[in-house]
Amino acid sequence: MTDVRDAVVIGAGPAGGAVAIGLADRGRRVALVDRERFPRDKVCGGCLNPRALRSLAALGVVPAGVPLRSLVLHAGGRAARVPLEGGLAVSRRSLDAALVRAARARGVEVIEGTAATLGPDGGDARTVVLDGAGELRARTVVIATGLSRPPAGLDVPVDVEERSRLGVGAVLDRRGADLTPGELHLVCGEGGYVGLVRVEDDRLDVAAALDPGLVRTHGGAGAAVSHLVESSPLPSLSPDAEWRGTPLLTRRPARRHAGRVLLVGDAAGYVEPFTGEGISWALAGARALVPLVAADDDRAGPRWEREHERLVASAQRTCRTLSRFLRHPHLVAAAVGVLARFPALARPLVRAATLERSA
Ligand SMILES: Cc1cc2nc3c(=O)[nH]c(=O)nc-3n(C[C@H](O)[C@H](O)[C@H](O)COP(=O)(O)OP(=O)(O)OC[C@H]3O[C@@H](n4cnc5c(N)ncnc54)[C@H](O)[C@@H]3O)c2cc1C
Repeated sequence: MTDVRDAVVIGAGPAGGAVAIGLADRGRRVALVDRERFPRDKVCGGCLNPRALRSLAALGVVPAGVPLRSLVLHAGGRAARVPLEGGLAVSRRSLDAALVRAARARGVEVIEGTAATLGPDGGDARTVVLDGAGELRARTVVIATGLSRPPAGLDVPVDVEERSRLGVGAVLDRRGADLTPGELHLVCGEGGYVGLVRVEDDRLDVAAALDPGLVRTHGGAGAAVSHLVESSPLPSLSPDAEWRGTPLLTRRPARRHAGRVLLVGDAAGYVEPFTGEGISWALAGARALVPLVAADDDRAGPRWEREHERLVASAQRTCRTLSRFLRHPHLVAAAVGVLARFPALARPLVRAATLERSA
């Protein structure tokens, strides 16, 4: 079995990058494959909570970002400022490239610009087919492909919530922009919400979760985001931004394993991003998955289901409840009004529901 790697990880976002580094640190032979070349942009608010930062530090990755000092919530013409501690705003261009660099430095074989699919299961090893670049064989295959269509050959149906919102984002080249560094602005309105924050190079990261109907009504994602931003006192967005989109966000695969193939990160299930925790869920999942893969044990799949439920799925249910509340803009506006008058209420709310959930 000399040409059989211990693992092939498909997808080099935070989940895949972290699994690959963790396995390499345990002396395992790993390949990490991504269809994109790094650095690359990705639709994301770019906010790391303290838990995510601790997970990254444990991998030896210390991102250069802008410390987050406050969250400003806008709804119904009202605004409330909530103090934040310990978070960081960083572009995905820079964060994901740092993870890929760290993986390579730890001996991971990184294959960029190559989409992967699953080939046949040979009993002792699974084949991974690299688009135009041959095949790899591995004892375990980790699927960390985010919200993308699952790789062909993966026999796990995904249940996508019909009423879910879709993700839209752009990084605007507005050096010295009007937003104060360290302020995360969240504008909630009819049909969606949008987050705006300055990242490490002074560009403005804009990321939104929108009803597909809002995008249709405004004739495009950029116009829909601008419409939401215009309901707040924030400056208008430049019309020439290059918007990227995601499929519908809230989803759940029927299971998180298929034999020796294991799903992690957004590929293992996701809910709307209002609480800004996706990266920390992805990293926490990766950390728990590494010892299961490293053990090279046939029972890894069922064990992973239980671990995922304990670590990630229960937190996602809280987030899902919150996302239902966000469907009622008048209630959100009322809540923002209360927070604006009684800022002391904000602290426990942030702890419980947003950027400061502890490990
Ligand atoms: C609007 C929005 C705002 C968000 N804001 C935040 C935030 O502020 N903070 C936060 O923590 N989280 C946020 N998130 C969530 C966060 O972006 C995700 O949870 C996180 O990126 C998940 O990481 P991942 O590694 O699972 O997937 P991804 O980061 O999506 O990485 C998947 C990788 O797989 C690759 N890939 C896909 N298919 C294939 C294939 N067949 N072969 C090879 N490569 C493949 C892709 O190119 C990609 O690089 C937000 C999400 C959205 C939509």
